[in-house]
Amino acid sequence: MSAKIFTTDQTQLRCIQCSHVADLLKERKFQCPKCGDLYDVVHDFKPLKKSFSSYTAMFDSRAARAFSASGSLLERSGVWRFKEWIMPYLPEKYIVSLGEGNVPIVPAGNHLRKWIGGGDVWMILEGMTPTGSFKDFGGTVMMSVAKAAGIKYVGCASTGDTSAMVAAYASVAGIRSVVILPRGKVTAAQLAQPLVHGSTIITLPGDFDDCMRVVRELVAGKRLFPANSLNPTRIEGHQATVFLTAQFFGWELPDWIALPVGNGSNCSSVGKALRLMNQMGYKGSSSRILACQSEAANPLASSWMETRAAHKEVTTSDWRGMYKPMKAGETTATAARIGDPVSRDKVMREIIQSNGMMNVVSEKLLNEAVAVCGRDGYFVCPQTGIALAGVKLAVERKALKKNERVVVVSTATGLKFTESAACGLQKNILEAGDCATETVAKLMGV
Ligand SMILES: [Zn+2]
Repeated sequence: MSAKIFTTDQTQLRCIQCSHVADLLKERKFQCPKCGDLYDVVHDFKPLKKSFSSYTAMFDSRAARAFSASGSLLERSGVWRFKEWIMPYLPEKYIVSLGEGNVPIVPAGNHLRKWIGGGDVWMILEGMTPTGSFKDFGGTVMMSVAKAAGIKYVGCASTGDTSAMVAAYASVAGIRSVVILPRGKVTAAQLAQPLVHGSTIITLPGDFDDCMRVVRELVAGKRLFPANSLNPTRIEGHQATVFLTAQFFGWELPDWIALPVGNGSNCSSVGKALRLMNQMGYKGSSSRILACQSEAANPLASSWMETRAAHKEVTTSDWRGMYKPMKAGETTATAARIGDPVSRDKVMREIIQSNGMMNVVSEKLLNEAVAVCGRDGYFVCPQTGIALAGVKLAVERKALKKNERVVVVSTATGLKFTESAACGLQKNILEAGDCATETVAKLMGV
């Protein structure tokens, strides 16, 4: 590459464990060569010399033009609106955007409010993005950096949402993509997206962890540029969840941000964004993270609870000592069916830093949450069900107080999970014995 796009003084990769520094545009493995841990993307914000209020005024003026035909790229994307906090030194010409990020934030409907039983509950509907899941927030940043780095082939192991995102954004960036999936563990709808976007699809006769291992080995041999949670550029984009939420509430953060944890990239980004806002001069009270897992795949939540039971205060080193990977069980929340999350160390750091909490929800409760939300008109994915059920448990246990505001991250649309959602509700279908209008009227009760 001829001219340097940005220097490591401006943006660099830094190991979360030993602080080893690497060049973001040259790195191909995204694992520290010294200690094997993950990288953070770190920017030098000092030369930007802006106060918190001048940043927010700029972001607000961009938001006002989000739906204008004459709006610029930074105005139309609800992720790149916050470019100075997300990837400040990346030249705009490398940005690969599908207009992601302009998602609604809505108050809980009557059914959900009643079901949860307290709290000022809101949802950020991140399923309302181009590929139907929150992954687009990170994907737009990851693929833009890949384009700047001159990458030719990106790929991931994915239970669905990541593969859809990678396929769509890679196609637009002009980069080849491959998705490696556990055979029989993803829905037809989830396979349809990478197929339509032109990805190479390879299925393995194993589970998600097998796919992850193959990806890791391809990445280690520098034969594949990783698009999954190993790649920390995605985390930069996912931070928009927090920025959009703060902006929506007039630059005030809610008491809690609740979300499901699969591989952990979303939780890592929420924590990173909260710390970034403080660094930028945010003076209000920050959010605590409520991170939820299902009984089928709860290696982080169960070890958090064990650590808390054994020690008064949870520290990262105590928690690491308690952590054990698990073989994930069956669950309708297939996108969070992960027994050994890649971003576990970052999740631990962010839960502790935000004075957050973890909990485990039953399969029954998470499916109930999806059904209750459906009655309010929102068809959310089962992973959103995990977070909603987690909020209900937190209210019941009085860990979340009745007057506290909580924003639940709805990570994907339920349209990707029609089979599992409809499955429990089949009993509600009435079967008419004949084709007579009167028979139908009788079943309708009219
Ligand atoms: Zn290291």
